[in-house]
Amino acid sequence: MPKVGILTVSDSVSQGQSVDRSGPILKDLVQDNADWTVMEQKCLPDENDQIQACLLAWSSPPLGLDLILTTGGTGFGPRDVTPEATEAILEKKAPGLVHRMMSQSLEVTPMAMLSRLSAGSRGQSLIINFPGSPKACRQCFRFVLPALGHAMDLLSGRIDQVRQLHGQMHGLATVSGCGHACAKPANGPPESTGVVGRPRKSPYPMIEVSQAQALVMANCAVLEVVESDFMDPMAHVLAEDIRAVDALPPFRASIKDGYAVVASDGKGKRKVIGGITAGAQEEASISPGRCMRINTGAPIPKGADAVVQVEDTLLSQASADGEEELEIEILTMPQIGQDIRPIGSDIQSGSTVLNKYAVLSAAERGLLATVGVTRVQTFRNPVVSLLSTGNELQDPSDRQPLKPGFIRDSNKSTLTALLREHRFECFDAGIAIDDPEVLEAKLKLALEHGDIVVTTGSVSMGDRDILRQVLVSKFGAQIHFARVNMKPGKPTTFATLEYLGKTKRVLGLPGNPVSATVTAQLYLLPACRQMAGYLNPVPATVRAQLSQDLPLDPRPEYHRAVIRWDRGQAVAMASTTGNQISSRLLSLHAANALLMFPMRSEERNTLKAGEEVDALIIGQLIA
Ligand code: AMP
Ligand code: MG
Repeated sequence: MPKVGILTVSDSVSQGQSVDRSGPILKDLVQDNADWTVMEQKCLPDENDQIQACLLAWSSPPLGLDLILTTGGTGFGPRDVTPEATEAILEKKAPGLVHRMMSQSLEVTPMAMLSRLSAGSRGQSLIINFPGSPKACRQCFRFVLPALGHAMDLLSGRIDQVRQLHGQMHGLATVSGCGHACAKPANGPPESTGVVGRPRKSPYPMIEVSQAQALVMANCAVLEVVESDFMDPMAHVLAEDIRAVDALPPFRASIKDGYAVVASDGKGKRKVIGGITAGAQEEASISPGRCMRINTGAPIPKGADAVVQVEDTLLSQASADGEEELEIEILTMPQIGQDIRPIGSDIQSGSTVLNKYAVLSAAERGLLATVGVTRVQTFRNPVVSLLSTGNELQDPSDRQPLKPGFIRDSNKSTLTALLREHRFECFDAGIAIDDPEVLEAKLKLALEHGDIVVTTGSVSMGDRDILRQVLVSKFGAQIHFARVNMKPGKPTTFATLEYLGKTKRVLGLPGNPVSATVTAQLYLLPACRQMAGYLNPVPATVRAQLSQDLPLDPRPEYHRAVIRWDRGQAVAMASTTGNQISSRLLSLHAANALLMFPMRSEERNTLKAGEEVDALIIGQLIA
């Protein structure tokens, strides 16, 4: 169990003029996030000698702390000396940790440029400077947290743990950044340790949602090009430019129902020499002083250069039987070109009407019809294999009463419907009970049929949560992440593997119905869109105002809500869908947005009614 020391460096705190807030925050974070013990906690003034002495004592036997975190004294103040005192006693520097904190902090505020942080090791102790402000301190802790446990194992030579982690993560290097040669990855999978020996903390580092999304997207490249029918609803994105062979309109066409005239004839009476309807094939012509009745969309007769709408005319003479117009009077002065669409005025022949990467919605399909292109090159639509896991699951399609101890599998239906709604193809790989061999067999079936396999359940910390173990041991999968700082959805897992010569992705969603759906929105749909060729695969966010106070969670939360706009308002009003517990699928009923709440902090534990948050659109926007 790693031992941790927390040193607050501040003149004012050590003189009792202000209260230490950052030290206790660090203590909580250390204890919240890992199985570590805070052995020492102290506050010192900004005095180089005293800081050095403390760091030396804490990093030397008999104490020999594994991790020493300092907060404060890293700014530009004349008394700020924490980095200098730290560097004076470091044996090895750890610029990667500093880089991580700096790069991430700069995303938050340019003021981070003024942070002078240092990090490194002395003996078996890892020593890291954090800024003094509670907020920055908390952020920096989170930034380096994914690497801390592993760094301490390496420094302390706890080689078995290092090997176990490498074995379990099997290539998690993308996240952990562990590229050193100290510990060879264990050959083969992590050993199953049973209910007694199972780990009581996840060995996987916690990463942020943005990192998790980036990892999924980096492994879900656009699929190959296929030929599709232009009306195939499963064809999403064009993989070619589409050109018009014909002009539109292909002939000079009338915009109005009225009379084709010679503009220079001006106002006055005209002999009507006949009529042209849309679709007329013979070419008609008129001469000055005459006109022809014409319908919208009909070809303009030769010699005519304007159309006068029927509303601007009077009948001056009809045939004896009253059936024919013989003469009309033009009441307005016609202008040349009036109410005529010239040839190619909508689409010129040879012009590009749709570009590669155009998304095929209603208008685009209409355009394809217009130009007569009925077979199109598109990016292949991914097939998503869906596999539910759990001994307790009953298939709702068996139409049987619930068996004792069972619940109905709702995840499969929700995810199938969600994917269908977004026009992605699903393959139903069934339900796997929590048995490694059954899971392996069902995964094979799922992998065979899908570009991406989506499982639900079996990723928590229970002894029956065997998905990762089976993926690594039976399929040699590379687990890219298995813990995300989000609520709901913390154990979301993403892996890639080679199956029958093809790269497949496995997205392991949590079993709780809300977690599975929220994580499907955040990871699965963007991944499918990218594979299907969308250049903008990520859903839009809008600003929404809370209609009531809502508490914040220690993790960033995706809160289900209904958003709607009052007339004339740019900012939506958001109403929560009620109890947000992740098993309660009703919290998703009618929800059209996920409100993105920041994690709870010292300064803020509630969002107040009227406050604005980002809302991710997940459903229909209604007035
Ligand atoms: P797990 O992630 O497997 O530990 O499951 C977490 C919770 O979600 C448990 O209460 C399960 O019974 C429930 N659950 C798992 N899979 C499903 C499913 N397909 N449909 C409905 N509930 C599920
Ligand atoms: Mg389960």
